[in-house]
Amino acid sequence: MTRPLTVAIVGAGMGGLATAAALRRVGIDVTVYEQAAQFARIGAGIQIGCNAMKVLRELGLEARLRAQSFYPRSWNNRDWRTGDVKFDMIFGESAEQRFGAPYLLAHRGDLHAALASAVPDQCIKLGHRLVGLDETSDGVRLAFANGASAVADAVVGADGVHSVVRDLLFGASPVNFTGRIAYRTTYPAARLGAQKIDDCTKWWGEDRHIVIYYVKPDRSEIYLVTSQPEPEFRIESWSAKGDVGELRFAFKGFDRQVETVLAACPDVHKWAIVDRESLVRWTDGNVTLLGDACHPMTPYMAQGAAMAIEDAAVLSRCLDGIDRDGVATAFRRFEASRVDRTSRVQQTSRANIWLKEKTDTAWVYGYDAWTVPLAA
Ligand SMILES: Cc1cc2nc3c(=O)[nH]c(=O)nc-3n(C[C@H](O)[C@H](O)[C@H](O)COP(=O)(O)OP(=O)(O)OC[C@H]3O[C@@H](n4cnc5c(N)ncnc54)[C@H](O)[C@@H]3O)c2cc1C
Repeated sequence: MTRPLTVAIVGAGMGGLATAAALRRVGIDVTVYEQAAQFARIGAGIQIGCNAMKVLRELGLEARLRAQSFYPRSWNNRDWRTGDVKFDMIFGESAEQRFGAPYLLAHRGDLHAALASAVPDQCIKLGHRLVGLDETSDGVRLAFANGASAVADAVVGADGVHSVVRDLLFGASPVNFTGRIAYRTTYPAARLGAQKIDDCTKWWGEDRHIVIYYVKPDRSEIYLVTSQPEPEFRIESWSAKGDVGELRFAFKGFDRQVETVLAACPDVHKWAIVDRESLVRWTDGNVTLLGDACHPMTPYMAQGAAMAIEDAAVLSRCLDGIDRDGVATAFRRFEASRVDRTSRVQQTSRANIWLKEKTDTAWVYGYDAWTVPLAA
């Protein structure tokens, strides 16, 4: 019997963990190398589009995510001052039937933990920051900052927007700072007292917006994320904090609901919003990129993680039954199968008009990464 293909995945974010679970499903031997010493539960929400849920269902995570997440009847879009409804995108059961899976609003930590639960602990090496890659006749050699090294038949760089794998393959290139920042946080909805708010609304202002939704089925936890101009701020990090007073000031005059949610907000993270132009190439020999490492996008369609999760399913289909000699061709097929879709989502997201008015959403949510035809 031939031995299974070995794949080293760099990064245990949404994309890396989804890839590990999807590759194991087709019998591939995976090891995930993550720079962090432990997983942290970041206070953020995440929308899990129907397209991502179709992938997560096959990874065995649907029941868990339904039980832990909020199931919205719609995604509402309202004017910041008048409250007029611009477009109410209906989700709930009708969208589930139409697109083949539910649309869920989750705590980011719950989605990450669900993905981690689909990968055995022994396959994940924490505290391993990749610093070098070398293709040799034995396979691809990985070197880590802690002095460790490893060899695998193939490497997947799922190491996010500041990808070291990308820099090693194609040279370093700066990210595109959009000149805008996001404040984001989750907090217990009990802080709102008796005040009622919508389940899930994007409040559209003139040069800024705020999105507010519940992330738990019993509405016990609330999430907010904003976007507004602040060209000088250039920290793009999970740990940078913002000033709640400045946040409240920035949304003064918005609808009463927004002021209510911001008045109760105890603490907030602040984040420079970045993206990149579409990359010309994602793969080189037996190394490929995936997720934000190759197609980072603004958060305005809530599809960044969804694209990484779709990548995982398509990559597993391309590698199914392949031996080491076939990896480079399979990686090129993966790239060719995914680049048009992810570029279109990057471009659409950058425009920040998604769902602002009646929008054709079927091309995003109707996509099924398990059945979509692969490139030749
Ligand atoms: C404000 C905001 C809101 C968002 N909301 C949504 C949403 O609602 N829905 C959605 O689908 N997407 C959303 N996104 C996008 C989503 O967060 C990203 O697209 C997604 O996290 C990308 O996953 P990834 O695995 O490619 O990268 P990451 O999640 O960034 O993971 C990369 C991993 O690689 C590790 N790593 C990095 N370098 C190394 C190294 N050298 N060696 C080893 N490990 C390394 C990192 O520590 C990290 O764990 C949002 C983004 C932002 C900024």
